[in-house]
Amino acid sequence: MKNTLFALALASMLCLATTSCRKSTPVTFTGEQDHLIMSVLWFQRSAEMRALFIQGFNIASERLAVAAEVPGNGRPKAVVTDLDETILDNSPFEAWQIHTGGSFSDENWKMWTDMAAAKPLPGALEFTRYAESLGIEVFYVSNRSHDDAFGPTLENMRKFGFPYADSAHLLLKTNTSSKVERRVGILSTHDIVLLIGDNLADVDPAFEKRDDYFGMHGVDSLRQEFGRKYIVMPNPMYGSWVTPALTRGDGLSRRDQHVRSITGINTGQER
Ligand SMILES: [Mg+2]
Repeated sequence: MKNTLFALALASMLCLATTSCRKSTPVTFTGEQDHLIMSVLWFQRSAEMRALFIQGFNIASERLAVAAEVPGNGRPKAVVTDLDETILDNSPFEAWQIHTGGSFSDENWKMWTDMAAAKPLPGALEFTRYAESLGIEVFYVSNRSHDDAFGPTLENMRKFGFPYADSAHLLLKTNTSSKVERRVGILSTHDIVLLIGDNLADVDPAFEKRDDYFGMHGVDSLRQEFGRKYIVMPNPMYGSWVTPALTRGDGLSRRDQHVRSITGINTGQER
């Protein structure tokens, strides 16, 4: 009950601070979210995180400058970027889960996206504006739900002045989480010169599945693309990497699943 009241109070506070809290939404709670604490702390408070994002967008800008000079085939050039934890910072929603025990659910996520309050990640705004200055279009391919989040997401992006924040360039999820189809759609009219994301499937279909040693063999076989055509941003909070990384065990707590899945030295003192 205390958690619920706290969550609702936080939600109303955030609503007051934004212009777009459309309605109060039910929240669901599943208990502790302590596994998120260190990753959210790192994401919000480490200068290393800031440096890594700026580094990623600096490299992306250099690659774009090179791509702009390459003679095209007559079709416009484009950048494809993910939104969440690539362009927009949703770590306040992760922190909300820790503070309240609220779980990730469609309803809770909608509560957050309706606020249109996600701030740009370091370097994101500068990079997308630089692309625009080169005449290279930016397509935002995101797995936010088109039905639930299209309006608030556009509002969020326009609030911070992102270029190409329009229905032609914001491609949210309709029927499939795979982004391959949406990229094929873009390729029918544009040359994609750069792909950016915090999730490897944002940049290459090889990572639609991670059966092959957590996807690491895929990274090795595509090593020439990283820092060239593919730019990957750090996200320790969540992603497609989590589920394949966890050793399954019936009845195990989330903590125990995490602990069983990491490799250490054997001293005989393990808990
Ligand atoms: Mg993302």
